[in-house]
Amino acid sequence: MKIDSSHDFGTRECPSCGVRVPANENRCPICHYPFPVKSTLSRSAPLIALVLLLIFLALLLPLFL
Ligand SMILES: [Zn+2]
Repeated sequence: MKIDSSHDFGTRECPSCGVRVPANENRCPICHYPFPVKSTLSRSAPLIALVLLLIFLALLLPLFL
């Protein structure tokens, strides 16, 4: 299978200058706007903290009964 270097990964619009930037670029080639990197870890971190808090509260609850 031939690897096509011009393969279209899709584009996204630069929020700074509005130019179409290839989706695999993490920086705008025109104005050098850095695209925010999506991290699954930082997105799920508040949920993990909430679950840990609920477990902590569930363990403490018998002390107040
Ligand atoms: Zn730009």
